[in-house]
Amino acid sequence: MRFYKVVGQTSLKKQLIDGVNAGRIPHAQLFLGKPGSGTLPMALAYAQYVSCLKRQENDSCGECSSCRKYETYTHPDLHFSFPYPTKVKDDLASDYMKEWRAALAINPYMNFEGWMQHMDAENKQGNIPIRELRSIIRGLSLKPFESEFKVLVLWLPEYMGQEGNVLLKIIEEPPQNTLFLLVGEKSDRILNTIISRTQPVRVPPIKTDDISSYLMREFEVDEVNGSRFALMSQGDLNLAKSLTQETENPYFQQWRNWMSICYTRKMGDAVKWADEMSGIGRETLKSFFLYGLEILRGIMVFGFRKQAGSWSAQEQDFIQKFSSLDIPISQLEKIILGIEDAISNIERNANAKMVLTDLSFVVARNLKK
Ligand SMILES: [Zn+2]
Repeated sequence: MRFYKVVGQTSLKKQLIDGVNAGRIPHAQLFLGKPGSGTLPMALAYAQYVSCLKRQENDSCGECSSCRKYETYTHPDLHFSFPYPTKVKDDLASDYMKEWRAALAINPYMNFEGWMQHMDAENKQGNIPIRELRSIIRGLSLKPFESEFKVLVLWLPEYMGQEGNVLLKIIEEPPQNTLFLLVGEKSDRILNTIISRTQPVRVPPIKTDDISSYLMREFEVDEVNGSRFALMSQGDLNLAKSLTQETENPYFQQWRNWMSICYTRKMGDAVKWADEMSGIGRETLKSFFLYGLEILRGIMVFGFRKQAGSWSAQEQDFIQKFSSLDIPISQLEKIILGIEDAISNIERNANAKMVLTDLSFVVARNLKK
């Protein structure tokens, strides 16, 4: 993986590259970022750059013997560890390298669910068991075969549990020229003892502009849709890509149902709706509401200009019907404010069911002439 293939993240790339060129290569680093932000590709690009034999100013060369093996994730000094479902007694992550390399080749931005799907193990538990951790320690105690550096990329340290503490000693006093690149999503689920011994590398969500130009380049979406999908994805490349593949926005039906519940004031249904929606996860909820805000703004614009912009046929139909209800703009603004409040309450970990129930009442109150 070369840096240029990592979507966006210009300033972080520069910071990492400058560090290597100045000889600052911390031996234990924790790449931390939300799913779809590119933590894993970033760590892989970093490892390849550190190991490249003809390092260029801004990227690895992609051609030297080290890069060629790094590109296929087959370099003998590149070690991987990751959560996996136990399929055979005493199996190790190294037993699944074929699957792992294939998954990386398909989508290095994959998340845990994507990886488990790839392993045909959607309903099984994946973790990093203690025998895997012991095998990491054994593997790293060997000298590098070809490179100056021996690199361990440990994906999702969240999945190693308390057993992860067996790694503390080797992280603290590593064999010479050993790099630990831990790649995680949620710092509150990673052992504090591990966090305190690693140098943090914060990977922010990908910028909206970077995602939209990626979508326009790779998926041939037009500028308007590129920006819309990018905005809705909140910096998650996987979500952005899946939005381009939906002929209809995945949130549309849910949004239409909820609006209809609020408009007809079936508050019993609103409570049921809140109950269901509170289980879909904070990030998905936020995306759902961001989508809804887009639609509401579309409705407000439609009121002025009598044209619906770039929407699917179903969305356009919904916007037209909604506009014909003639809800005053001041009330639409109250609904928008209510949704924005709900988003920030959800971000602050408020009880989602309560937030959603209250919000339905606000919407219902304002959804009338
Ligand atoms: Zn190279």
